[in-house]
Amino acid sequence: MSVWLEKVVARADAAERLAALPRPVVFTNGVFDVLHRGHVAYLHAASQLGGSLVVAVNSDASARQLGKGPERPLNRAEDRAAVLAGLASVSMVTFFDERTPVELIRALRPDVYVKGGDYDMETLEETALVRSWGGQSLAIPFVDGYSTTSLVKRIQGQGGRKAAFLDRDGVINVDHAYVHRWEDFAFVPGAIEAMRALQDAGYALVVVTNQSGIARGMYTEDDFARLTEQMRQHLQQAGVTLTAVYHCPHHPNGTVPAYAVACDCRKPEPGMILRAAREHGLSLAASLMVGDKPADMLAARAAGVGRAYLVQSDNEESVAACDEADAIFDNLSVCVSQVLAGA
Ligand SMILES: [Zn+2]
Repeated sequence: MSVWLEKVVARADAAERLAALPRPVVFTNGVFDVLHRGHVAYLHAASQLGGSLVVAVNSDASARQLGKGPERPLNRAEDRAAVLAGLASVSMVTFFDERTPVELIRALRPDVYVKGGDYDMETLEETALVRSWGGQSLAIPFVDGYSTTSLVKRIQGQGGRKAAFLDRDGVINVDHAYVHRWEDFAFVPGAIEAMRALQDAGYALVVVTNQSGIARGMYTEDDFARLTEQMRQHLQQAGVTLTAVYHCPHHPNGTVPAYAVACDCRKPEPGMILRAAREHGLSLAASLMVGDKPADMLAARAAGVGRAYLVQSDNEESVAACDEADAIFDNLSVCVSQVLAGA
């Protein structure tokens, strides 16, 4: 047996093994289902309070009683214990099967009882118990921003809906350069019908567009928002619903100081696509991107989008993008009809 696994001890043997540990013995308990940084920081802090740290994990039956959802715990008690045993801060891991560890604490008589989170320790039965033999009881707050529950939600989001990420200028509307007024906005012929076909095939429609004209002071966020709203309404009347529109207002050489930054959202960076996936539970691998520039193809690649298609516009950059694209089409309409026919 690996030495590390020797730290995992059956409940029946726990008292005997604990007797050999350096004092004072610190005791804590929890499910520790999917170990994250917050757990590790907490256990390290707890270990600093004494000579040894004993962690009692809820058995699977005990963990289910906590009501965190039918699929929880995701990992079996033996596996959760083995992961904890791998931490340098942990001296011993054992198990408890009840809703609370009171009976185990009574049997082990630790010197310090620690609980993670904002607990009023004075009200806990465990506190009265450890004090009865002169022990201490205290709470250690968790590090903000880490939670197994939110982690699980994010992971489940990866199995989500497929999306069609669409560049705007040159794909949806004719690229007249820095289009920002509805009067100048002309849909590319066939684009609306193509978007409806994608929607009918189950794709969430997500527009991802670089709008460096905002950083360059050519138009404002409000101008962009107004144009977006008119585009949305026009599409809605044609039976096409946009799931979301993401734009990057930045450019490193912009003239508006607030937007003159190197950001992680301007394509070829994948920021807009990754944010869309997070906020709408999209499956990137099942998704596709249609754009008219190398930056669109590169952003899709960097984000892990399954397929990236280039459409020809008058843009000179298009030709150079051949290598990055899975296929090249004349326009969105041709692209969608061929892609959906081949799917
Ligand atoms: Zn940006």
